Amino acid sequence: MSLVKIKRFLLDLKDDILDFIYPQACPICRNSLKREEADVCEECWKALALLPSPYCPYCASFLENQDDITNHQCPNLSRPRDRRILAVRSLGTFDDHYQKLVHRLKYDKKIPLGRRLARKLGESIKQERSFPGCDMVIPVPLHRARHRARGLNQSEVLAEGISRVTDIPSGKNILRRKKNTKDQTYLNAQQRAENVKGAFVVTQPEKINSKRVILVDDVMTTGATLNECARVLLDSGAEDVFAVTLAVVVE
Ligand SMILES: [Zn+2]
Ligand SMILES: [Zn+2]
Repeated sequence: MSLVKIKRFLLDLKDDILDFIYPQACPICRNSLKREEADVCEECWKALALLPSPYCPYCASFLENQDDITNHQCPNLSRPRDRRILAVRSLGTFDDHYQKLVHRLKYDKKIPLGRRLARKLGESIKQERSFPGCDMVIPVPLHRARHRARGLNQSEVLAEGISRVTDIPSGKNILRRKKNTKDQTYLNAQQRAENVKGAFVVTQPEKINSKRVILVDDVMTTGATLNECARVLLDSGAEDVFAVTLAVVVE
């Protein structure tokens, strides 16, 4: 385990202990929350660092408008057809603040916080008109066993929230995770790609045939999971795949 990972593990542990002792505190600044503040205080909410526009998941270039997205020639892909995801929209980079928010949603199951974050994401997609003509929002699924153990799929909460704001229907059982893949936290990019290979299946291909799909996940790390989901969706007849995440890990 690298030092960075040990540090992150210890910080998570510290947060867990603090959350246990002060459940009514803002996870970012630790001040106590006012009654009307749901899960994160107004000041921290306003101070969240936001990314300006969608970007290419393969080279991280910002793609500011529809033309950029359509015409992007990615320098990191040898063949244009390797480009499975046309663009990703994330709220921010996976800094300390987003890490705390994701943790609250994922492990403490703070669904109202998830909805609030989803609204922010959905509004950015709507205002920028970055993903026009999309027909469906699809959450990255958890394996049945993991979903049962955790009690919630954070991506589903986000997808439903985005669907509500954008009026794009959400299809949550169209993509299924058939392999209960290993936890990816300590895997590198290549191991992650191996780990998720063949992990997903489209159960209702007729629902995505010729559709423009928005995949939703909480965090994009190397993009292995989103890329594999996109591959399966495109192989099953989807027209285009975009992705939306709360945060993106920048190495
Ligand atoms: Zn705060
Ligand atoms: Zn690119």
